[in-house]
Amino acid sequence: MKISRRNFLWVSGAAITASLAAKLGCAPKEPVVDPGEEQVGVEPEELRVQYASTVTQICSICGVGCGVLCYVEDGKITAVEGDPDHPINEGALCSKGSALYNMYYIYDEKGNAIQNPQRMTKVLYRAPKATDWVEKSLDWAIDEIAKRTKATRDEYFKEKNAAGQTVNRCEALAWVGSAMCTNEENYLFRKLVAATGIVNNDHCARL
Ligand code: SF4
Repeated sequence: MKISRRNFLWVSGAAITASLAAKLGCAPKEPVVDPGEEQVGVEPEELRVQYASTVTQICSICGVGCGVLCYVEDGKITAVEGDPDHPINEGALCSKGSALYNMYYIYDEKGNAIQNPQRMTKVLYRAPKATDWVEKSLDWAIDEIAKRTKATRDEYFKEKNAAGQTVNRCEALAWVGSAMCTNEENYLFRKLVAATGIVNNDHCARL
């Protein structure tokens, strides 16, 4: 059963009402099962993860770096949950991490999960003053970033300030970190930034 916000509230309300009724002594009695009687069982709903392989991953939303288990079947994610063996979150996920599945899927009008067509899966580049985005390869983007960073640093690196004090900095470059990186990655980025002489350096979580 797919739990929507509406039926979650309905189920919660029903559970509270039932437990209140039990406390007041007016809950319906549990049916007495005759051990000799043949039981007609209700087939349990097939688990979404029954035939899936499990891939361990890190939550991509914030720098806490919680561990997640992704269940994958036929190259598609069928479910995501907290990794109970991960030392940081021990299986728990916050509300954002719990919604990771919906970063990749949206629901069509029949309630079927379909891959979100808005997901960026390619490098798009818009040249200065251009109005159109052009598709590029990841290798091109990495080379271009490295080339432009070096050229800017070579041109603007200052060893001393106007008062003659040693500063070894490049004010023409800035670095913005990402909350999608782990604390360890951000630690390494900070080292790179300092070694490059970049002083304009920030991060949305101030890591
Ligand atoms: S967004 Fe939540 S689940 Fe994801 S890493 Fe941060 S705290 Fe953990």
